[in-house]
Parts: sequence; structure tokens; C-alpha cells
Amino acid sequence: MLIKGKERIGELFNKKKVVITTHFKPDGDALGSSLALYHWLKNKGLNTSVVVPSDYPSMISWLPGNEKVIQYPQQKEFSQKLIEEADLIFCLDYSSLKRTECMSDVIAKASAEKWMIDHHLDPDDFADVQFWNNKAAATCQLLYTFITDLYQDEGNITADIATCLYTGIVTDTASFRFRSVTSGLHHIAADLIEKGVNNWEVHENLFNNNSENRLKFTGYCLANCLTVVPEYNTAYFIISAETLEKYNIQTGDTDGLVNYALSIKGIKLAALIVDRTKLIKLSLRSIGAIPCNEICQKHFNGGGHLNAAGGSSHTSLRETKEAFLSLLPEYKNILTEE
Ligand code: 5GP
Ligand code: MN
Repeated sequence: MLIKGKERIGELFNKKKVVITTHFKPDGDALGSSLALYHWLKNKGLNTSVVVPSDYPSMISWLPGNEKVIQYPQQKEFSQKLIEEADLIFCLDYSSLKRTECMSDVIAKASAEKWMIDHHLDPDDFADVQFWNNKAAATCQLLYTFITDLYQDEGNITADIATCLYTGIVTDTASFRFRSVTSGLHHIAADLIEKGVNNWEVHENLFNNNSENRLKFTGYCLANCLTVVPEYNTAYFIISAETLEKYNIQTGDTDGLVNYALSIKGIKLAALIVDRTKLIKLSLRSIGAIPCNEICQKHFNGGGHLNAAGGSSHTSLRETKEAFLSLLPEYKNILTEE
């Protein structure tokens, strides 16, 4: 887990200005880990800020400490100053500075030490401390271990910290469904509940918070935008910019849509291809050995995990769809094996 920087970890509580960062369009694991770490360090008396590169879905904006989060594009000068003056920058839930988009140059140039806590494949070598394991189901799982094992500080996991960590674990495992879920992870979840997580309430906040528009959008996409390619056990959604506009789609509203394609019996690869106007965004999900991360890395300027990855394209929606379909023959063997 601690693969780099062991000699530095004793210095944490001597740091004067800490900035916690995470990836563009933070998800539950990104924001959950950032706020859990924020509460833990604040409670230790450290001057700590959370700066994120973009907005994020309303399904996670109820997390304790949400009002403290600084969105870089909204407070650019202030955020830059925080990053430039920091003596420690935490890099949570990303393994390449590129994933912080508009913040990447400022972080790269900052004189602060960089400490990564992450579970994505193939980390770049930018961090002074790397607490990394791609077998971890979530960065929040790693942060739990960081606090309890590395700093032996289990006693200071408050209900707020536990709630943030639990949320990241739930969202990054689709509610404990993925292959990454182990008995060890369930033990962590049980411990977090003992520390005060109101677990049913977390699930309510995350999943029973749909807007009417979003649900109708989902229905429209299922009925009109989904195509199945039976010979490759593949299914994909193509969503136009007009559809997004018609349903007033907000950040996060398309999250999870791709899983409906994967839920069709026999489907092993699912794609969501969305026209975000400035670019075309892809989300891939798979079952078994089909490498979503390899497909996104090689062809769509992205990356992620074996069974869940994302990327983008600067061509048209139609060309992106064709590029995706043209890759399927390459993976025919693993897509069609029993
Ligand atoms: P999603 O499809 O939900 O946007 O992302 C799925 C996974 O792929 C996440 O773990 C995320 O970190 C990763 N991912 C999504 N988009 C990108 C991207 O543009 N670049 C990289 N490197 N990873 C991405
Ligand atoms: Mn994550």
C-alpha cells in the first residue's frame, strides 16, 4: 500500500498548510475521501482546505463539510494562492495530474510535497508519497487503512468521517456489488456503521434523490437511445446534446445510465457515448476480462479500471460511435467466449 515516501509520513502533523485535491467531476469516492481527510486533519488542528476542479452531482452534495469545498473555477485566484502556498497537497482518487484538468499545471508547479492516496491503474510518478493499491475497491477504503494502520488513529474516526468514507465505498462498489468487494471491505463498512454512520440514510441520500426530469430522461434513453450488438455481446447508448438540453440534464444525471446496458442478459461490454458539446464523453463498463481501461487509454484519451473506465473524443458523436464499434472485432474472442 505505502509504496513510496515512508520516511515522510511522520511529518504530517507538522505541516502548516494542507490542500486536498481530487479529480475533475468528483464522484462519491473522490468527494467522500476528500471530506473524510479534511475532517480528520481539521480535528488534528491542521490548516486544511479542499479544492476541486469542477462542480459535482447533487447526489453527493449533502456530505458533511460540503459547504467547505472550494470549486477552483469559481474561486480561481484564491484556489491558486492556496495551492501555491501549501506545504502539502493531497492527491486523492487520481493517479495522473491530467485528471485534475484546469488545476493540473498549478499543482505540478507547486512547491508543496504531494501525497497520493489512490486505487487507479498505472500511477504517474509525480507524488512524494504514494499510498496506492489498485486492488482497493475505493480510495475511501485506502484512506480508512491510512488512518487506522499507518497512523494507528482509529479512535479518531468520527461519525462525519465515517459517513464520508462509507459513501465513497458505497458509490465506488455500486452498493457492494463489484468484484472488488471483499469480506475485509464489509468489515470496514461494519466498523464505520459502529462509528456512527446512519447507513440507510446514506443510501436514501444517494439513490432516492432523483429529479423527475432525470427519471424521465432515463426512460427516454432506454426507449430511444440504446442499441444492442448481439454478435459482440455489446450494448451502447448514444445521447445527443439536444436530448441533454431537452431534459435539463445536470452534472451527474447521466451517471449510472451505462449500467442499464450492462444489465441486459449476456451483455459483457456497455458504452455510454454522450455529446457534451465541447467534446464527446465515453463511459465503458464490462464484465470479466474485457479491458475498458485499455480501450479508453489507447483510443479515447482516457483510462480507469479494468471493468469501468472513461475517455473522450474530439470528433462527432457519429464518428465516436463508429470508432467504438470498429474496435469490437479486436476483442471478439473475449467478448464472445462462454
Ligand atoms: P465514468 O465512466 O463513471 O466517468 O468513469 C469510470 C472510471 O473511469 C472512473 O474510475 C474514472 O476515474 C475513470 N475515468 C473516467 N473518465 C476518465 C478520463 O477521461 N480519463 C481517465 N484517465 N480516467 C477516466
Ligand atoms: Mn475511486
